[in-house]
Amino acid sequence: MIIPLDKSDYIPQLKALDQRTATHHPEKQLIQTQLIKELAGARGQSALTFPLRFLHDEDYILRNPRIDDENECFEIDNLILKRNYILLVEVKNWYGTLYFDGEKQVVRKGDDGIEEGLPNPIPQVKLQQHRLQKWLRQFDLPQIPFLYFAVISFPSTIIKSMHTDQSVPEEVFHSNLLPLKIEKLNQQYSKNILSGNMLKTIAAQICNAHKVKKVHVLDKFHVSENELINGVFCQKCYANPMNWKYGTWHCPVCDHVSKNAHMQALDEYSLIINNEITNREARAFLRIDSPDVTKRLLSGSYPPIGKTGYRRYKLR
Ligand SMILES: [Zn+2]
Repeated sequence: MIIPLDKSDYIPQLKALDQRTATHHPEKQLIQTQLIKELAGARGQSALTFPLRFLHDEDYILRNPRIDDENECFEIDNLILKRNYILLVEVKNWYGTLYFDGEKQVVRKGDDGIEEGLPNPIPQVKLQQHRLQKWLRQFDLPQIPFLYFAVISFPSTIIKSMHTDQSVPEEVFHSNLLPLKIEKLNQQYSKNILSGNMLKTIAAQICNAHKVKKVHVLDKFHVSENELINGVFCQKCYANPMNWKYGTWHCPVCDHVSKNAHMQALDEYSLIINNEITNREARAFLRIDSPDVTKRLLSGSYPPIGKTGYRRYKLR
């Protein structure tokens, strides 16, 4: 059973921030690089859905559980809970040629010949394993093997060892080999240690403990609110701003009209700035002059909070 746990808004937040940050902003490149990285991560995770289908029905596959321990949160890409062992699968979306120096650094050589040093996924997944093992002690489980893999999601990525007298760590391989590697573990660790009920309880405890990642993207990328591009974007040609005229939004570039284009803008406001908004803030963000028009747009779709004069609207 696959249970996806990550309900974070980080990708939509980055998309909204990218759209509303000017091209010349000093953090623009960083925002776009992070967005590309997060999108690749999500793609890499979904590439694992197929190989993980071969697991047994009673196994639990928790995707992106994020657990709080005494050292803040740790996140696991894929946590496979079986009656005979617990397996962590870290996914790397690296392309090009990877050179592993044992458990030390990884050097990636891209198609352009440029080399880049990357953190080795083995110590990373080992640390997650250690933290999970420690966290699970509270449930008094019987001794169960904890295992880990680090898989490379692109089948075209070449995995090599940096030194000829050394091989790539055996826990590192392409994602399509995962069913075979799991089958091998099943033979090696064939004894059931946990009961079906225990397995169910642990899965439930981890799901309960899961902490959704919350990021304040303005702080993270050092963008101040007044540097953001205000206004309603045209959903057809992405021009900004659309103008509110006679009860509709009108795009001055492509003539596209919309009754509710402001809702997309307010959704972005809630992702980047705050999930509540006042009439004054909405006027500035949507670039509307009239408080009455703004009030109509807000009260038609969003629940009001607080008394007149201090009224805010809940955006999500
Ligand atoms: Zn347009």
